[in-house]
Amino acid sequence: MTQEDLFKNLIAHAKEYGFIFPSSEIYDGLSAVYDYGQLGVELKNNIKRYWWDAMVRLHDNIVGIDSAIFMHPRIWEASGHVGAFNDPLIDNKDSKKRYRADVLLEEYITKIEEKIDKEVEKGRKKFGDAFDEQQFRATNPNVLRNVQKAEEVHSRMAVALNDNDLDALRQLIVDCEIACPVSGSRNWTEVRQFNLMFSTQMGSVSEDANVIYLRPETAQGIFVNFLNVQKTGRMKIPFGIAQIGKAFRNEIVARQFIFRMREFEQMEMQFFVRPGEEIKWYEYWKETRLRWHQSLGLGDAKYRFHNHEKLAHYANAAADIEFEFPFGFKELEGIHSRTDFDLGRHQQFTGKKMQYFDPETNESYVPYVVETSIGLDRTFLSVLSATYIEEKLDNGEERVVLRIPAVLAPIKLAILPLVKKDGLPEKAREIMDNLKFDFNCQYDEKDSIGKRYRRQDAIGTPYCITIDHQSLEDNCVTIRERDSMKQERVPIANLLTIVDDLVSWRKWLGKVTK
Ligand code: ATP
Repeated sequence: MTQEDLFKNLIAHAKEYGFIFPSSEIYDGLSAVYDYGQLGVELKNNIKRYWWDAMVRLHDNIVGIDSAIFMHPRIWEASGHVGAFNDPLIDNKDSKKRYRADVLLEEYITKIEEKIDKEVEKGRKKFGDAFDEQQFRATNPNVLRNVQKAEEVHSRMAVALNDNDLDALRQLIVDCEIACPVSGSRNWTEVRQFNLMFSTQMGSVSEDANVIYLRPETAQGIFVNFLNVQKTGRMKIPFGIAQIGKAFRNEIVARQFIFRMREFEQMEMQFFVRPGEEIKWYEYWKETRLRWHQSLGLGDAKYRFHNHEKLAHYANAAADIEFEFPFGFKELEGIHSRTDFDLGRHQQFTGKKMQYFDPETNESYVPYVVETSIGLDRTFLSVLSATYIEEKLDNGEERVVLRIPAVLAPIKLAILPLVKKDGLPEKAREIMDNLKFDFNCQYDEKDSIGKRYRRQDAIGTPYCITIDHQSLEDNCVTIRERDSMKQERVPIANLLTIVDDLVSWRKWLGKVTK
């Protein structure tokens, strides 16, 4: 099965089992907006907690806030979003489809890289055990030609984006002979800039109504509260402020499911440091954030850093943590050294000092900021796409299983009476009533045990227990583990410890701090 087919199956699965629904579906949906269903919200809440606890609970110099989505419109002028939060867009005149010019070029580069990988695989097959990949890459003429081509396109694109040279960007698309995937033609418009912020009006009388924006990032809510938190929390530099919340962007190309949405959630942390120490902290947060991702056990090889060549107007260093989604390596989280840009601009726009008095150096200064900014929905997608498995079993049967990290699984324990009579449901309810305070349990008495196991595999439940007639006598149940499918008879009294050992926040978060 191709990655594309697997991804389609995953999207269908997410809907069928109540993880994610298209928004407003009975009205034919709303483009790039999604709703989280009954299991989706549990997984999402667990991801939020995993992030929040790793940031706020485990760092005594990081605190959290929850600022409003609506903010004073001048904030977005100060931050540069009104003037510069743009994407370069280009339309195909035949299909009337709109694209991001930089995305078209990035996809073109990805195709060249795929060609290189294919060539290497061919070599591997041809030379067998004697194959030396390094030497092959350094000498094979086809590989060398394609590497040079990819590098050339990449550097021309970086220069055009840096110089904001829209004509050069268009010329590069023309030179690469990129065709519209829908019409197949190369009949392109000019490249134009398009602002991504949604605006609306505040106030009931139209004459005095003000244009305000739906925030395109949660970060500014942190910056404008910097002094409030620092003073009331008696925070000493270096310290951080974290926030989880909705952000809105009128994305030009909204596709790839919940990867690029118009309404999404961010988990951001701004870390305030002494000027001159920002690069040290930037490196620290790069490593710390990568470790957080890796602690989930989705596979270390699925993550990589991508250092930015084109820096945003506010940054002096920036990198993405990319994840290998079914459609390739793409940004999951950004780590940015934002200098004193944001606080400096708010100081300039309001005339209010955004300074910190450093008792160690006896100096006042505008702190520098290192930001970590991760998309909650993209993290959700990374978990789903790395753990969705269509598996052939030894007995010839097939099962779909979500090997979700146990700490994040929406349901931790399924409670299954073998039959719907003879006092088994009552016994099962008794167990559930006891354990539901500790974990999310699900009771299911319908269909055969085999079918019920499959249903729990499909939603990623790490453990199922079956209550049978003997349970009434010996107070033991059969516990089955999702991944190995191993079954074991255990005392009911041990269930809390057994499940807790697998799902405990302490155990999982312990890996982050190592
Ligand atoms: P991209 O280059 O993919 O548009 P970005 O560089 O604009 O992303 P940032 O502004 O750094 O993204 O935002 C931080 C994080 O927010 C991203 O790493 C991503 O996980 C998430 N994010 C950004 N835009 C979206 C979106 N439209 N839908 C879902 N998540 C998003």
